[in-house]
Amino acid sequence: MRIGAHVAVSGGLAKAVGRGAEIGCEAIQIFNQSPRMWRPTAYGDDDFAAMREALEATSIDAVLIHAVYLLNCASDDNEIARKSLDSLVQSLRIGDGIGADGVVLHAGSAKTGDVAKAIARAGKVIKAALKETDSCPLHLENTAGAGGTLGRSFGELAALIDAAGADDRLGICLDSCHLLASGFEVRDADSLAAVLDECVGLVGVERLGSLHVNDSQAPFGSNVDRHAYMGDGEIGEPGLAVFLSEPRFEGLPCVLETLRRDRQSEDVALAMTLRKRGLARRRRK
Ligand SMILES: [Zn+2]
Ligand SMILES: [Zn+2]
Repeated sequence: MRIGAHVAVSGGLAKAVGRGAEIGCEAIQIFNQSPRMWRPTAYGDDDFAAMREALEATSIDAVLIHAVYLLNCASDDNEIARKSLDSLVQSLRIGDGIGADGVVLHAGSAKTGDVAKAIARAGKVIKAALKETDSCPLHLENTAGAGGTLGRSFGELAALIDAAGADDRLGICLDSCHLLASGFEVRDADSLAAVLDECVGLVGVERLGSLHVNDSQAPFGSNVDRHAYMGDGEIGEPGLAVFLSEPRFEGLPCVLETLRRDRQSEDVALAMTLRKRGLARRRRK
């Protein structure tokens, strides 16, 4: 597992690498543009080369790109669907340019409409985005299940992958907070193993792409997406240690998205410590 954090990208892609290195990251995640605006940031080959060069000078060896929150690939509004496609293509092109491990996407929302139809619409947009880009993987993130957000269950993630053509580039990103909020028990090793059995049974183990490790302010099964600082939430340090040491997560990039402002390196270090603690506990069993 490569542990790290979401880092700001202001000042350029290479700057994000420096920020990640400064707080001890082995993996980083960035937004490829302002997360609440449609307007894309124009990056070119020079920016990609500068970022790759910056990465070589650090021990960061995994980069994730988080697609913009505004995207709704499942929208039945043609204008929103077209903008979502353009923005997703942009994210994947940057991923191609920097050799990212994946673009992480919230597939979209059915709002109050029919879920199966929404999945079909999202699949179409995702398929088109893959067709327009080269090789960067695309990881569909599981959601906390609020509103009509798609990806609340492994069945929905599998259906989205199928609707998008089951391309080899498609994978999933599992968020610990969203899993708990969606009613998946991740806090003890046996329960998490059972959750993963269900997950790989429906999605396929080869599609496990990346992880978000966040604690949760909202309780188990609440369908509320509210991150807590590491150890301060409903998952807690023992639960996070279980999540971070799950054998099937070995090798995946894993980023914290919610860090204490002035204690970012401590939070990253805490995640690394909790992983070691979890591994030691599993060995003793
Ligand atoms: Zn997340
Ligand atoms: Zn979240």
